Amino acid sequence: MQATLTFLGTGTSMGVPTLGCDCAVCRSAVTLDGDPRNRRTRPSVRLAYNDRTVLIDTGPDFHAQAVRENIRRVDAVLYTHGHADHVMGFDDLRPLSFCVEGNLPIYADDATASTIERIFSYTFRKEDRYPTSAQVDLHRLDPTPGAGVDLFGATFLRIPVIHGRQQITGYRFGSTAYLTDMNDLPEESLPLLQDLDILILDALRHTPHFSHSHLEKSIAFVEKLKPRRAFFTHMSHELDHAATEAILPPHIRLAYDGLQLHFEIA
Ligand SMILES: [Zn+2]
Ligand SMILES: [Zn+2]
Ligand SMILES: [Zn+2]
Repeated sequence: MQATLTFLGTGTSMGVPTLGCDCAVCRSAVTLDGDPRNRRTRPSVRLAYNDRTVLIDTGPDFHAQAVRENIRRVDAVLYTHGHADHVMGFDDLRPLSFCVEGNLPIYADDATASTIERIFSYTFRKEDRYPTSAQVDLHRLDPTPGAGVDLFGATFLRIPVIHGRQQITGYRFGSTAYLTDMNDLPEESLPLLQDLDILILDALRHTPHFSHSHLEKSIAFVEKLKPRRAFFTHMSHELDHAATEAILPPHIRLAYDGLQLHFEIA
């Protein structure tokens, strides 16, 4: 079964342009003669297959991203972790949750589910629930590495990744894996990332960072895992799109907001 993945956002938590910054990349992100690929909203992806729409994360730019990509329906949402740049668009699921039959299923590991329940407590209150809160069913993921969630004919495998002091969730679906926010991979995740057509992974900037992979390290992950193609995401204003791609091998590209990829999901 063919699927289309759309990058809703490819920026780091601060987005590009970074507020208050006048660097060349931030300027290029907003000027008419700049490079629109340098305009990076907060990271998430949309998967379309089998007439269904599945999101991975809903960041603070989700409303604008959904308008831009004409997202009119969402059938399920998977979360990677509870940082603001990945969950703060949760409330914008409200109108979309009213369109699905029953409640909108959302999936998160235990720590992320607790964060979502805390931030959006009015949605999950048993009594005195705000009547127009999102109508969702929050499912906690099986913590076992490689444990799968079946959604509309495709299986999403939980891939543990290391993000600073936390272990968070990446996903593999068919021949593609999405590993945002990671600076390392635990041993048990390596066998789950073999034979990939597409690997999407974190590449924050040129210099090392305690909770994100940087360009050189991300290239090394690609060399180790040997996917057919790789796309970097969660990028800061230190990476100019054209200048960075020029130094990458042809099978590694930088993602940009709105980029679509086609692959086999099941
Ligand atoms: Zn992030
Ligand atoms: Zn900047
Ligand atoms: Zn994070």
